[in-house]
Amino acid sequence: MICVLDTNTPIGGYSVNPYVGCPHACKYCYASFMKRFTGHTEEWGTFMDVKDWPEIKNPKKYAGQKVIIGTVTDGYNPLEETYKNTRRLLEELKDSGADILICTKSDLVLRDLDLLKEINENSRLTVSWSINTLDEEFKDDMDAAVSIERRLAAMKEVYAAG
Ligand code: SF4
Repeated sequence: MICVLDTNTPIGGYSVNPYVGCPHACKYCYASFMKRFTGHTEEWGTFMDVKDWPEIKNPKKYAGQKVIIGTVTDGYNPLEETYKNTRRLLEELKDSGADILICTKSDLVLRDLDLLKEINENSRLTVSWSINTLDEEFKDDMDAAVSIERRLAAMKEVYAAG
């Protein structure tokens, strides 16, 4: 199952997370509270649940609404390469007219550039990268996501693609 939840984030709208857990294991992660709701007792960053959900039948109900993908996980974590849950979600929301925001620390999002461009034709789509330092060694100590260099390169490529 997948939950599209009203969110209390400062930017409002809906929050949707295609996975439970996050292998980036950021030391400063605020999302580890999710363990309480999912019964996980393992250390945050060491488990992942791959969600499943019935097809979103009426995506238009999100028209004009902010939909944030990746508030308590990274939808483009390494498991996405295999399970493609985030791609599937984006395909279901493609013609929704929603204002979609993808939050990531990965460059795997480049795999879906074709789809992102298509979505941006009928909806508004933004990809945001979290970068807390330009010091790769410090980054490696803080999280297990891809290098800052790769994040910046992905940012440039998505920007160049419009
Ligand atoms: S990428 Fe986000 S959700 Fe994942 S561990 Fe880091 S802060 Fe937490």
